[in-house]
Amino acid sequence: MDTNSLLRALPNTDDVLAQPGIVDALGQTPRSVVVTAVRESIEDARRRIFAGEELSYGVEAAAADALARVAIAESPSLHRVINATGIIVHTNLGRSVLSAAAIDAVAEVARGYSTLEYDVESGERGSRHVHVESLLTELTGAEAAMAVNNNAAAVMMALAVLAHGKEAIVSRGQLVEIGGSFRVPDIMRESGATMIEVGTTNKTHLSDYEAAIGPNTGLILKVHSSNFRVVGFTEEVPVRDLVELAARHAVPVYEDQGSGVLFDLRRYGLPYEPTVRESIQQGADLVSFSGDKLLGGPQAGMIVGRWDIVQRLKKHPLARAMRLDKMTLAALETTLRTMRDEARAVEEIPTLKMLTTPAAEIGARAHELAGRIEESTDGAAVIEVVEDISRAGGGALPLADIPTFVVTIEPRAISDVDLESRMRLGEPTIVARLREGRLVIDPRTLLDAEEENVVVTRLGEILRGA
Ligand SMILES: *Cc1c(COP(=O)(O)O)cnc(C)c1O
Repeated sequence: MDTNSLLRALPNTDDVLAQPGIVDALGQTPRSVVVTAVRESIEDARRRIFAGEELSYGVEAAAADALARVAIAESPSLHRVINATGIIVHTNLGRSVLSAAAIDAVAEVARGYSTLEYDVESGERGSRHVHVESLLTELTGAEAAMAVNNNAAAVMMALAVLAHGKEAIVSRGQLVEIGGSFRVPDIMRESGATMIEVGTTNKTHLSDYEAAIGPNTGLILKVHSSNFRVVGFTEEVPVRDLVELAARHAVPVYEDQGSGVLFDLRRYGLPYEPTVRESIQQGADLVSFSGDKLLGGPQAGMIVGRWDIVQRLKKHPLARAMRLDKMTLAALETTLRTMRDEARAVEEIPTLKMLTTPAAEIGARAHELAGRIEESTDGAAVIEVVEDISRAGGGALPLADIPTFVVTIEPRAISDVDLESRMRLGEPTIVARLREGRLVIDPRTLLDAEEENVVVTRLGEILRGA
């Protein structure tokens, strides 16, 4: 048929809507969604015919195509993913997985009314800050604390309160960009602080700060360099020395710690990171850190430090714009409660558990998993267990090589790229790395036996069918 006849033969919307499958769909799906799917399908067919395609597209084909579009439109955009990458705080995959207790707490306050801003004792209005403040001060040794929407918000607020219309001194080695266009210089500008850069990329001395301090100095800022490290010939000024200098000029010191470590991770073979408590002990006036990086809780930003500064932060107009909702507060409070007992924290908070599980334990899981994959794929791939490295992710502990064991799968009949995409496009989504022609599965970030089962089954389905 020529283009014109094909175009004339296109079904019209009403005929497609009268098809049995579509009538069923109309019973379960909003009419507007179904009608849009039908119109888009016909429109797409029209475009393809115009482009010269000899499309066979009758009323039945149109209905089938429209139903597929309805299914896509009706499936949630934000959904569960199985993370087989070995990157624990995976920013693109939602950073930290909540503990079972935190999930229960969220469900509980979501299901009913709560004490969000209600004081049960007096029967009067309360403050939403009370739910986490004493936990945060207990865990960090600070005088006062509050939590906001994320650490970026915490940085913004701290700068707005301490350095608006003033100068904030920061080392050139700390002017970092932390994924998703969070750049320290940009945040400074938006907060109304004037940035005074000191030192060089690799070395900043106390004398550099000293030379920059003047009558307009509002703040000395220290930023954790997160996902980036200058190694070799380097020097940073410790918080203790900054505090000493700042005190002589009556200027506060604020440290953005990024990940926020609450206990010494060296006990688990991880590199040294100063804890929040250490910064406070060394005299930092304010410290901020994320809720969903190494704390292993919900997205949030903690601000801890001097009582008078935290009171100013709580009263700042931005506090209202940056405040936490009840579900996040419930998850955060529960996570912080668990954190009070380190042994419980590394068992129950998934991020900490994954970070501290010994390689030998992962190795045993990898061998077990490999055996099951071998069985389910029935010779359709070369399966191996090899030593590898897991990553903390999320800009946390960038230099930490966390030893692990991975299962590698080299398919015989299809390409590795094809295998990866079919793992990803199945339901649920499975995200895994590719390396040298192999799919790499790191059991460290598979959360439980059920996730392992899904991986085994999916590999079997794809590779035996191939
Ligand atoms: C991650 C990070 C931030 C941003 O924290 P969010 O909780 O993602 O908003 C800010 N500063 C540093 C140093 C970070 O590592």
